Amino acid sequence: MPETTRFAPSPTGWLHLGHAHAALFAREAAGAGGRFLIRLEDIDATRARPEYEVAIFEDLAWLGLSWETPVRRQSDHFHDYRAALARLEALGLLYPCFCTRREIQDEITRAGNAPQGPDGPLYPGTCRHLDAAERARRIAAGATYALRLDVARAMQHVRGPLFFTELSRGEVTADPSIFGDVVLARKDTPASYHLAVVVDDALQGITLVTRGEDLLPSTHLHRLLQALLGLPVPRWHHHRLIMDESGRRLAKRDDARSLRSLRAAGWTPEQVRDVLR
Ligand code: GLU
Repeated sequence: MPETTRFAPSPTGWLHLGHAHAALFAREAAGAGGRFLIRLEDIDATRARPEYEVAIFEDLAWLGLSWETPVRRQSDHFHDYRAALARLEALGLLYPCFCTRREIQDEITRAGNAPQGPDGPLYPGTCRHLDAAERARRIAAGATYALRLDVARAMQHVRGPLFFTELSRGEVTADPSIFGDVVLARKDTPASYHLAVVVDDALQGITLVTRGEDLLPSTHLHRLLQALLGLPVPRWHHHRLIMDESGRRLAKRDDARSLRSLRAAGWTPEQVRDVLR
């Protein structure tokens, strides 16, 4: 069945073999009559750079890929993320969090054995307990804040278990609370990875989300956000990660394995495809 898939790199470094694998996997998963889209995940303005963006298109074209245009760039669509936040806010599912990283760390240390999530210890819920007057007072005083999802309340709102289809696992029961009260709008950016991905996948009509195994935990949360926002639910296929010789996953700092250095060293696109098979 033809699918609509996407490759969603962040323009924060050179693409490496892991990205090539993700892009080729997404193209292949779309099938012969399917649609393959690219999305630039550049909401982190401090790290995104235009030269990386240009390089993404060059490297993918060199690999032999083509994609639909215009390409969606997240930083052009903050109004979409704001609208989604407004909807969650109207449901009473968000709260402002004034904590600094340091305060969160101190609270976790004080509380002892904090539950762990995929990204580290879970937020201890400090600001969830502030009353409306205190929130208003801090905001009026100019305090900056992130917006967190009250995940327990959100689960009550959707009632009943949620499921998602993962092609190599079958039907999976979602466990959306694994990230705790996750940040959906950062202090410096009115969005977050989780919020933007869910909104964009829906707006771009993605039917099959392909991405690395490392993002499987996120899928549990994304399923909840889709239910809360009334968005269509795609299917997912998580693929293996490409490792270096010592068994660590490739990272943007591994310049030697960037597609541009391989190309400079004389590799052909066929050789790249071959090592990824
Ligand atoms: N931008 C993410 C990354 O570079 C991918 C997000 C996704 O595929 O959902 O890892």
